[in-house]
Amino acid sequence: MNRTLIKDTINKTEQEVLIKGWVNIRRDHGKLIFLDIRDRSGLIQAVINPKVSAEAHAVASEIRNEYVVELIGKINPRGEKQINLDLETGKIEIEVTGLKIINGAKPLPFDITSDTRTVSEEIRLKYRYLDLRNERMKKNLKLRHNVIQFIRNYLMGLDFTEIQTPILTKSTPEGARDYLVPSRIYPGNFFALPQSPQQYKQLLMVGGIERYFQIAPCFRDEDARADRSPGEFYQLDLEMSFVEQEDILELTEKLFTDLVKTLTPEKHITFSPWPRITHKEAKAKFGNDKPDMRKDKNDPNELAFCWVLDFPLFTEQTEEDFFHGAGDKWGPSHHMFTAPKSEDIPLLDTDPGKARGLQHDLALNGVEIGGGSIRIHDPKIQEKIFDLIGFTKKQKQRFNHMLEAFEYGVPPHGGIAPGIDRLVRILAGEEKISEVIAFPLSGSVRDPMMGSPSDVSDKQLKELHIKVDLPKEKKIDI
Ligand code: ASP
Repeated sequence: MNRTLIKDTINKTEQEVLIKGWVNIRRDHGKLIFLDIRDRSGLIQAVINPKVSAEAHAVASEIRNEYVVELIGKINPRGEKQINLDLETGKIEIEVTGLKIINGAKPLPFDITSDTRTVSEEIRLKYRYLDLRNERMKKNLKLRHNVIQFIRNYLMGLDFTEIQTPILTKSTPEGARDYLVPSRIYPGNFFALPQSPQQYKQLLMVGGIERYFQIAPCFRDEDARADRSPGEFYQLDLEMSFVEQEDILELTEKLFTDLVKTLTPEKHITFSPWPRITHKEAKAKFGNDKPDMRKDKNDPNELAFCWVLDFPLFTEQTEEDFFHGAGDKWGPSHHMFTAPKSEDIPLLDTDPGKARGLQHDLALNGVEIGGGSIRIHDPKIQEKIFDLIGFTKKQKQRFNHMLEAFEYGVPPHGGIAPGIDRLVRILAGEEKISEVIAFPLSGSVRDPMMGSPSDVSDKQLKELHIKVDLPKEKKIDI
């Protein structure tokens, strides 16, 4: 007999079915034993009556919550009084004729049938595979899947090509600290995990791809922040050639408007078209550069998207945040590949602090959910920016490949990179970004389940010519 998914049992009244899944809850009423069986598609009540099968009843007596079982039985309509309208299968139940334990389960460290957000982060993440059995978590991951799938189909329909770029690469500065990976073959040298695929996507444009996207993992070695997952996160990375800023804004606006209408029709977008506000106005009116434009902040279904434009190209650096060791006054406010507005190019020589960039940030309900820009495609301007942010010759050399590529016919190009985790969190109505990530790092930037980060063997270190120079009292065992 083939397995029937629980959601399909509602069309099988009076038929015999084979169900496989977990025991959500077992209730022993002496004579009758009830098992709520759960699979990926739903939940159904199974009744084990010793008069129907003494054997099944004996097996059911052994069963505890979260055992993995398979059972055969007949789908019966429930009596009037037993109907449970909260459940999709609430008008039927299975009368069990055969029952088998596939695998037992220890008592769980926390109850997965109620809201697990009340359980401590440490325990939830240590047993994340159990937390994922929770209905809300499944729903969130499904929503995330649907969002990614929607984006893929939408962009494929617009002739975009999805391309994977390297994970082992060279530092791409986005203003955070890099994760480094030592090279065994070239001792003393390091790969960096990409803070974003910024340089690759621009090089793809030099490569004539014209329309690229990727659901890209990005790695930034930062302390945990409220609305960002620590360590790594995903963004919809997108780049186009022969476009102006307007094209990028329009595409993003249409994509997300259609996505919201299709996947979360209960949400309403406050403004259409999305308001556009300059950086200066945003600072003056809202005191920040990611304004919350919701009309009613108590309404969980309101989505107030808004664009922030005309950012200053540079921010003044303080002693602490000198950009990657560059020693000068200016740091890029987005990144160093963002083009200045054409009318502001002369200001680069006279008053760089006044130059505005072709940067666009996307804010949603007071959260920055993405940013991007039109890029510099003139190697001379690119070099000038490097000089202004105080790059030494050596620092400039690290980007020679960009300057060189730009000597071979580079199209005007630009793009954006909205955060997937951030967007899905808001669509799912969750407070924390970790609720929409299957295996997030904890707030203290580690994985209590895998036990990472962890130390490595002396042999591994030796091969890499690495000596850990750490006083004993500083070593943290996790
Ligand atoms: N690479 C940028 C970021 O990660 C996005 C972009 O400029 O397209 O913020």
